[in-house]
Order: sequence, then structure tokens, then C-alpha cells
Amino acid sequence: MKQQVDVIIIGAGVVGLSLAAALKDSALSVLICDKQRPSSVVDLSVSHPRVSAITHASRDFLKAVGAWNLIASLRVSPYREMHVWDAKGGEIHFNAAEVARANLGFIIENAVLTAALMQVIDNATNITCQMPAIVESMITDEEGVCVTLANGQVFQAQCLVGADGANSFCRETFAFPLQETSYEHHAIVCDVKTTLSHENSAYQRFMQQGPLAFLPLQEAHHCSIVWSTVPEHAKEIMAMEEDFFRDYLSKALELRLGDVTAVGMRYSFPLTKRHARDYVKPHVALVGDACHTIHPLAGQGMNLGLMDAKALAKELLAAKAKQRHVGSLSTLRRYERARKEANQTMLLAMDGFKKLFASENDWVVKARGTGLDIVDKCPPLKRLFMLQAMD
Ligand SMILES: Cc1cc2nc3c(=O)[nH]c(=O)nc-3n(C[C@H](O)[C@H](O)[C@H](O)COP(=O)(O)OP(=O)(O)OC[C@H]3O[C@@H](n4cnc5c(N)ncnc54)[C@H](O)[C@@H]3O)c2cc1C
Repeated sequence: MKQQVDVIIIGAGVVGLSLAAALKDSALSVLICDKQRPSSVVDLSVSHPRVSAITHASRDFLKAVGAWNLIASLRVSPYREMHVWDAKGGEIHFNAAEVARANLGFIIENAVLTAALMQVIDNATNITCQMPAIVESMITDEEGVCVTLANGQVFQAQCLVGADGANSFCRETFAFPLQETSYEHHAIVCDVKTTLSHENSAYQRFMQQGPLAFLPLQEAHHCSIVWSTVPEHAKEIMAMEEDFFRDYLSKALELRLGDVTAVGMRYSFPLTKRHARDYVKPHVALVGDACHTIHPLAGQGMNLGLMDAKALAKELLAAKAKQRHVGSLSTLRRYERARKEANQTMLLAMDGFKKLFASENDWVVKARGTGLDIVDKCPPLKRLFMLQAMD
């Protein structure tokens, strides 16, 4: 027996969950499947290694879907200032007060985001979860899409959304062409304790091999780091003895937060740029990392995914309200048009930044240092950059 729903979301990461939450209590019936079930509770006695810098635009979306108050009641670290500098000279300092805001954004553990979104979904009347569940097959026909799970259940929907991350099974199954290039960087993440307080500031130092970021967590001496660097260097960092690594890391940030006194478990992620040529096909759409992955140097990957979810939810709800087929190509193309250019622009900007800061050419080194200093001393230009990055 086939069970009928309007929308099937494959993948309950932050992006898939936020899409489901945006469709909650609507006329659409929604099924969300994941191979594992994200927890709706989060252990706040420990820190969780994966964190994201969340923009004001993403915060507004999370508010609109009913998750923000839950997130804020768990653990959020707003950051007011950001110091960005080049190891070879040139620095820029952003302060939220310059754009009349209380903060520049929020550092949030991914586990907090998923727990809050799971709570929203658990309370929705129109959302069914199949988690954990293994998707055995997905087939489209003229009416929509048919998904068979390994537990024998079969679902028929008008629209299937692939929110299943960077190595998307949906993208592969429906043969979405993909542009894919290695960034030749690995990102190392871990949480650290420092002798000096971060004072709610984020720090990012650009070195020739890649940027090192210290992101402020709730406690004043506690940060999460993201160190993107070439694979050989990443391998060396991962193999360092803890004492040596603490000292090496303190110096890599030029002791701006004093000494690093403790480090958590280190995790390393190879970084790959991916962009699906098409975001949609009849009855199928891709969102989030399934659709694009981007260098974390500006902390934008999840923010782009949340904006995908927002745009797609808008189109699905509008189609349902007008009694149109929610998985028709014309409905889904509206989503693609709303998002592709913004995602492409961000991917290109990250390529540009990465190349600019990796260059050892004397002229480029001088020009980028001077450029940072000029923008730092030009409030209107600085405000423009800040508002672009925040909203
Ligand atoms: C080091 C690092 C730092 C980052 N920092 C930031 C930052 O500061 N700000 C920011 O905006 N972004 C950041 N990002 C990017 C951000 O982490 C990702 O863009 C975001 O997590 C993607 O979310 P997603 O829901 O699309 O995918 P995922 O989080 O990968 O979720 C995919 C889900 O699909 C499920 N799934 C996979 N395959 C299947 C299948 N076959 N069947 C069923 N379910 C399946 C998985 O179990 C998972 O739950 C960073 C990335 C890295 C690597």
C-alpha cells in the first residue's frame, strides 16, 4: 500500500529540518526521512565540536519557523566584533555598533540547532518522521515520486526534496550534473580555552596556507576554532602532541587571546566546492549541501542552505494555496531562480578570497594589506560589507 503525502524531505540536517519546520501546520502533508534520528535534546554539560556562524537573516528565518526561542533557551553566543587580519600586514575591525546592531551574528552549536528544530517538528500535526530509515529506491513518474524504504513502507508524493548533504544520494539517484573541485584545503575544528577573554569577538587570521578563525562561545575564555589549511599541514596539525598543538595554536593567532590552555578533540574535514548545475527537475529539488558546498572561511554554507529552505518553502506553500501541483517544474523553477544567483555569487566570492589570501606575489600582498586598511578607515564601505555579510 502506498501512503500519500505532498512532500518528502530526505535528510534531517539543519536545512532539511528547517524546511519541514517552515511547512509545519500548513495544508501540506510532509514526510521527513533520515538514516539517523537527530536528538531533540542536547547535553549542555559538554560542548559540541561543530558550530556555525549564523547571520541575522538566518536568525529571522529560524524565528519565523518557531525554532529561535528554543535555540536561544539552549545555547547561543552572539558576537559583537570581528577582527580580520593578514599575517603579512593589513587589518580590519568590524563592530556591530557601526551598523547600529547589538551583534554581528550568532555562534551556535549544530547540535543545538537540530535539537530545537526537532522539537518544532515533533509538535507539528502535518509532519511525519521516518528516522532512522534507509531509503531503498526513489522513482519519479508523471504524477510525482515514489520512495521505498528498507522497512517496506512505500510513499508517493508530488515533490521530493534532497536535503541529504554533500554526498547526496538524491542528487546521484536523479543524476543532477555537478561541478566539483577540491579547495585543496582541510578544515580542522575543535574547541579551545584561552587565558584572555574573547569579549564576544571573533578573530580570523589569514595565512598563506589558509585562514584560522577563533569563534567565541558562551563562556568568556571558550572558543571554537576552524583552521583551514593545505592537506599536508592539516595532517601535521592533526598529529601534533597536545602540548605542542596548544603552543602552536596560540602563536598562530599571534597570542591575541593569550595562551591556549586546553584543546578538545580535533576533527578534520576535506573541503570541496560543489555546485549542482540544476537545482530542480520535475518533482525533485535539491537544497543545502546537497546542492552546493562552499569553503567555510566566511561561515556561509549553512546560511545559504537556510535561505534555500526558506525560498523553497515559500514556493511549495504558494503552489498548495493555489491548488497547483507542488512538484511541477514551474513551481520548483521559481525556487531555483530565487536562489541560484545568490549561491553562485557567494561561491565565486569565496574562490576570490581564498586565491587573494594565498598569493605570495609581493604586489598582491601589498595591495590586499592596503585594501584591508583602507576599508577599515572608510566607514561607509565597511558598513556596506557588514550589512552584506549579516543579512
Ligand atoms: C569546518 C566547517 C565549518 C563550517 N562553518 C560554518 C559556519 O560557520 N556557518 C555556516 O553557515 N556554515 C558553516 N559550514 C557549513 C555547514 O556546516 C553546512 O553547510 C551545513 O551543515 C549543511 O547542512 P545540510 O542540512 O544541508 O546537510 P547535512 O548537515 O550534511 O545534513 C544531511 C542529512 O542528511 C542525512 N542523509 C545523508 N544521506 C542520507 C540518505 N541516503 N538517506 C537519508 N538521510 C541521509 C544525514 O544523516 C544528515 O542528517 C561549515 C562547514 C564546515 C565543514
